[in-house]
Amino acid sequence: MACLFCRIIAGEIPSTPVHRDDQVYAFRDINPQAPVHVLLVPCRHIATLNDLAPEDDGLVGALLRRAAAIAKAHGYGERGYRSVFNCNADAGQSVAHVHLHLLAGRRLSWPPG
Ligand code: 5GP
Ligand code: ZN
Repeated sequence: MACLFCRIIAGEIPSTPVHRDDQVYAFRDINPQAPVHVLLVPCRHIATLNDLAPEDDGLVGALLRRAAAIAKAHGYGERGYRSVFNCNADAGQSVAHVHLHLLAGRRLSWPPG
C-alpha cells in the first residue's frame, strides 16, 4: 500500500488517534501548526477533492461535522478554529489522500500564505 494516510489508517504507521468510525479517522498532525492540529481523513482512499463523487456528499459532511465536534471538545467552538482542505500543488497538498486540517488554539491570520 503506497499511500501514507492509507497506511496510517490501517495502523501500519503509528499515529495519535482523536476519533475513528466507519467513515472517518482523525489523528494529530505530526508537525502541528497550532496548539490543536488534527487531520481528518476518509477511511477509503480518495486522492483529492477533485475526485469526490456525488455519493461522497455525506462523507464530506461527516468530516466537517466531526471537525466541529473535535474543536468544541477541545474548548474552541466559540473562540473559533479553521478547517482547510488543500487541493494539489498550488495549495500545498503534500499527501494525495483527502484530508481536512483542523487548526485551533491561536489567532490565525488571513489571507493564508
Ligand atoms: P498537506 O500539506 O498535504 O495539506 O498536509 C499534510 C499534513 O500531513 C502535514 O500537515 C504534515 O505535517 C502531515 N503529515 C505528514 N506525514 C505525517 C505522518 O507520518 N503522520 C502524521 N500524523 N502527520 C503527517
Ligand atoms: Zn490513501
